[in-house]
Amino acid sequence: MEETLKILVVDDDESDCLGVSLGLTQSHIYLELDKVRDAEHAVYAIQKTDYDCIFLNYRLVDKDGLTLIHKLHSSEIKVPLVVLNVPQNEEIAVELMRAGITDYTMQSMSLSPEILVQTLRRAIRIHRAQMQVELVNKQLTRQRQEMERQQQYIHAQNLKILAATGLKSQFLATISHELRTPMNAIIGFSQILLRGKFSQLTHQQADMVERILANGQHLLTLVNEILDFAKLEAGKLELNLEIFDLSNLVNSTVAEIYPEAAAKKLSLLVQNDLKNTLVFNDPVRVRQILTNLLSNAIKFTESGGIWVEMTETSPNSVVIIVRDTGIGIPPQDQERIFEAFCQADQSMTRKYPGTGLGLAIIHALLRVMGGKIFLESQFGVGSVFQVELPRQVNLTPSSVGGLDLSQIDFNVNSNRVFSATPNLPQSNYPSTQASQMGYLKLKP
Ligand code: ADP
Repeated sequence: MEETLKILVVDDDESDCLGVSLGLTQSHIYLELDKVRDAEHAVYAIQKTDYDCIFLNYRLVDKDGLTLIHKLHSSEIKVPLVVLNVPQNEEIAVELMRAGITDYTMQSMSLSPEILVQTLRRAIRIHRAQMQVELVNKQLTRQRQEMERQQQYIHAQNLKILAATGLKSQFLATISHELRTPMNAIIGFSQILLRGKFSQLTHQQADMVERILANGQHLLTLVNEILDFAKLEAGKLELNLEIFDLSNLVNSTVAEIYPEAAAKKLSLLVQNDLKNTLVFNDPVRVRQILTNLLSNAIKFTESGGIWVEMTETSPNSVVIIVRDTGIGIPPQDQERIFEAFCQADQSMTRKYPGTGLGLAIIHALLRVMGGKIFLESQFGVGSVFQVELPRQVNLTPSSVGGLDLSQIDFNVNSNRVFSATPNLPQSNYPSTQASQMGYLKLKP
């Protein structure tokens, strides 16, 4: 130790005090040594001088040694403090350590110079380590406080976002509801005009009213999508569950949309591989899911066809697959197209119209139903959307409206391929064509 150490010895016994002083001075350490008799003088000295170590005689403890230790502790004076002459009593040692001393020894004040130096060095080392630990603890505390502050901020922001989302959903629900009424009037009156009940329209007038009707219907679809999305986001969409024949529903939906496919000269085929066609779900919402998938398939397909397949992965889950030979979806867009207002082509000049809400609604509806959607697509080749539904949504009621589902006779009509309209050709297309695509992307 090359530096000069400042040492304070606190002892009311002159001879002991002298022992420590002598020991330290013989130890070839450069040091400045101060001696005081009691705690009061010690505190005064410590406030004036930065000591490197304090030696305190335990015998003082009975008088005011502990007071000194407590005072140093409470006034945050950080000095290595060694208590000498501690009796051989574990409780006392524990009490001293708790009070914040650095080290203690049971030996008397008149220690050999070597032991004194060892004790001094150890005390300084321990003290430095303690200071470091304290510093790290302080830093950790500061970091924890900062994290808590951040968490509180994030929590407050979340509350704001939740409130804003609630307002937005309410706004969307109100606006779309208000828009539906005039839209229904526009659609209704256009239809009356076209029927020619009151007066016959000229060719040009009929053409204009037809456009009003088509645009009105399109607008109503958009408004309905926004309303559904707002309800789903706000968790206010309720399913009207009932038992129905899935195969009938799929066939009638496909038949309804068939003219759109025919207008683009696309084939539209249905294959039913269901052993049991009965399901317990909301038919309106299942139809909505299928209609959305089919209208996308038609919209994004220029040639070839669309195939709908019904199958079951287990007795408790049914699957509807919609395949197309359309433009496909690039891999980087396959995840995000399920987000609201998201389209693969986001450009202003995009070719295909739409809100970008259809798949988000499907995804949200399936979450409510306990179903899943899987996407398989290859850019420029085609897409496969696979919807997996529980046969019974909301597993609790085993019996609905007096009907016991387990008693219902299974309507077996396996591997039946048929067209949705009498004019469509029969086909065995789906599985082969789909497996040629050979890729699978999951969207749980
Ligand atoms: P919208 O059809 O109104 O744009 P959707 O949410 O239904 O919104 O679809 C989001 C996007 O996913 C579409 O804009 C399109 O980029 C892509 N997509 C959906 N279905 C298909 C499909 N069958 N073929 C190719 N792309 C599709």
